[in-house]
Parts: sequence; structure tokens; C-alpha cells
Amino acid sequence: MGKPKKEVDTRFSKFGTVSFTAITKVNDFVDFLEKGKVMGTECKDCGLKFFPPRADCHRCLTSNMAWFEVSGTGKLMSYSKLGFAPIGFGDDLPYAIALLDSEDYKVFGRIAGDVPEEDIRIGMAMKTRANTLPGGQLNYVFEKA
Ligand SMILES: [Zn+2]
Repeated sequence: MGKPKKEVDTRFSKFGTVSFTAITKVNDFVDFLEKGKVMGTECKDCGLKFFPPRADCHRCLTSNMAWFEVSGTGKLMSYSKLGFAPIGFGDDLPYAIALLDSEDYKVFGRIAGDVPEEDIRIGMAMKTRANTLPGGQLNYVFEKA
């Protein structure tokens, strides 16, 4: 999967408001985000799709993975507007977290800040796009399809 990794790979420090992990086998995820692509992984053996991306398939117990782009639309299954946030995320408030069902996989993330709350409906079609936060950190958000 991708280019050879340095021993200490800190690319994930560019993801999200607060870095939650420094070393991971799926750091190419962040490189893709910088190019505007939100990517998951797919097991080449059984076709199972993973988002967030995983380097190993729990069904096959292999690491025979390929990247795929999270594209098309997903159905909004659930969302919650946050008035309080975990430590480190306070400056981003208010924001809504949500779960999209893309049939083969589910995507957990934030609804884009410019989607009016009154427009949000369970079951509505949304798409996932890469996003740059104030300060240059990267994440992805959901917007109306
Ligand atoms: Zn598999």
C-alpha cells in the first residue's frame, strides 16, 4: 500500500483538529486528503470495504488491501449537534457529527458548517468531501448531495 514508510511517520498529525495518533499503516489517507480525496481501503481477497481505512482485513486476516475513493452519496442515518466538544475541539463548535450509510460501508464524520441545521433530515443524500480547517489541518465533511 503506497510508498515505503519512514520509521516515524507523523503524517496523521495533519489530520483533524487534534492529532490522535502518530504512527499508522494507513497514513497515505492524509496524503490523499491533501489532494482532495477521501479514501477508504478495500480487501482485495474478499471485497470488504473499510472506512476509516484499515491496513488489515479482519475477515481474511490478511493485509492485501487497495485504496478506493469515498464517492457518490450516502444516506444520513443519524446526526447530533454538539454544544460541548471533547478537549481540543472547542474552537470548532458548534458542529454536528453524523453517520452516512454508503451501503458497502459507513462513514462517521462532521456535517459541513455551511449546511443549515433546518435542512438536515434523516435519510437525506449527502456526499463526503475533503476539507481544510482554519489553521490548515485537514478533515472531511458531509454536504448536501
Ligand atoms: Zn478480506
